[in-house]
Amino acid sequence: MSDVVAFRPRRATDPEFGLCPECGCHDGFLNKGSQHWFFCRDHRVRWLAGINLFDHWRAENRTEQLTRFEAIECFDVVQPIWKPKGAS
Ligand SMILES: [Zn+2]
Repeated sequence: MSDVVAFRPRRATDPEFGLCPECGCHDGFLNKGSQHWFFCRDHRVRWLAGINLFDHWRAENRTEQLTRFEAIECFDVVQPIWKPKGAS
């Protein structure tokens, strides 16, 4: 049984797409159309990292995409921690 999902299963701290202001991590992202929503499951927050940054959203089944997105739709939209690439 394959469970193909757009988000990564591990908690990550790569800051390029923003990080949860509470814990400095994220749990990956889900697409809503061309929008890439990163989220933190622990703190039930999400933020819009960008639009059309990755091409794969076009290949996703729209209905499945919306079903997956429902899981984070109730999360609070927050301003994430942004650490620009290359900054130390
Ligand atoms: Zn968090």
